[in-house]
Amino acid sequence: ELADLFGVSRTTAINAYRQLEQQGLVWTKVGSGTYVSPVRHVESQPEVPWLQLFTPYPQDPLASTLRDLVATPASNTISLAAGLPDPALYPLETFTELFNYHIDRVSPADFGYIPVEGYHPFRKSVAAMLNEKGIAASAENILALSGSQQGLYLVSKILLAPGDYVVTETPTFIGAIQVFQAAGARILSLPCRQNLELLEDYLIRYRPKLLYIIPTYQNPSGRVLPAHERQDLIKLAKRHRLIILEDDPYSELSYDTQPPPALKALDHYEGLIYLGTFSKILCPGLRTGYLVGPPVLINRLALEKQFIDLHSNNLAQWLVTMFLSEGMLAQHLATVRREYKRRRDAMAKALQRLCAGEIEFAVPEGGFFFWCKLKQAGTSQQLLQEAVNNRISFVPGEVFQTVPTNQDKEFRLCFAAHNEAILLEAIQRLAKTLSQIRKK
Ligand code: PMP
Repeated sequence: ELADLFGVSRTTAINAYRQLEQQGLVWTKVGSGTYVSPVRHVESQPEVPWLQLFTPYPQDPLASTLRDLVATPASNTISLAAGLPDPALYPLETFTELFNYHIDRVSPADFGYIPVEGYHPFRKSVAAMLNEKGIAASAENILALSGSQQGLYLVSKILLAPGDYVVTETPTFIGAIQVFQAAGARILSLPCRQNLELLEDYLIRYRPKLLYIIPTYQNPSGRVLPAHERQDLIKLAKRHRLIILEDDPYSELSYDTQPPPALKALDHYEGLIYLGTFSKILCPGLRTGYLVGPPVLINRLALEKQFIDLHSNNLAQWLVTMFLSEGMLAQHLATVRREYKRRRDAMAKALQRLCAGEIEFAVPEGGFFFWCKLKQAGTSQQLLQEAVNNRISFVPGEVFQTVPTNQDKEFRLCFAAHNEAILLEAIQRLAKTLSQIRKK
């Protein structure tokens, strides 16, 4: 209501409430509402003035959006918001078998402190897995990470100083936007239909430190950068000595044809940093990802990582190593691809049948997302507000824009986390919402 009243986005209103709450000016009773605090709350000084002690930090109005996205939705709401794999598909039985069978053979020292770069057998298995995908790497090129999000942070920590320029696609992954903004970087955006002329213009005018790109089944647009554009991009990058940060969580989740090779597989100037993760193909709670780059970069990143966590969890790295070395990945990928393809098709069919008059969308060839655009008047924020009343949620497009706008008509639907029947129900609710909005 507040958002409507002042013509601001819902996120802005929620953040305004949070700040008021942090300052003790309002308090929230769950399930009831937000109330103005009694005057004594305002006047009494807390014994420790925490808010005044925190380091200055860019106050990004989207800062808590990512947290909100993965927060548990109301029980009767179908959430197509968070980009999560379906927990029902986590390979827990295989994990149990691997654990029971192999745990006796591990040297206990493997579960002590290990080198910051990671558990050596893990680094070796990841390199072998990447070699099969045409990426030249050996263990010394691999840095084990507590999820690829940590890689984004580490790279920004060692390369970006306040005021530096970073080029990203727009829309793009909000977790990356936030990390670059927190480093004080300025973001130059490339509209998602990759445009090398614009990129070259940026390179000449602004000398950016980094290009961040998700070339395969992009989050949120689902788009794949075609093979010839990958070649051209690498050539351009080589000419300008541009560092590329390639984020690749989804390329194993292909449902039609194989995607083109990773940029890293085409890298012939050593300027490419590659990020991979087991979050989408196994499960996010492993918090196990990896970064690939030349040893000089791995060494510098490792120094930085040491300050954060000494090293990533070696029990999880050991489990993933067992998964890979026992050849379980191919079989697991076959299972999840089959299931997600069915879900992708069910969602495409339902959107085509029930919503095609009201929205545009392209069917993604892999990954987790449909990227949709409202054809009719109104914004995706307004659609979301109505949709929540019909017990369905999704992510409005503005969250993924490098320059947020509250006029956005795009939105992201994740099809991975629910079975076909639930997806159909969700799209029926979306169709109902669209027709309600049209009649307004
Ligand atoms: N990059 C992209 C493009 C993502 O979509 C995600 C997860 N949503 C991440 C990075 C972070 O993944 P991780 O769990 O490996 O930290």
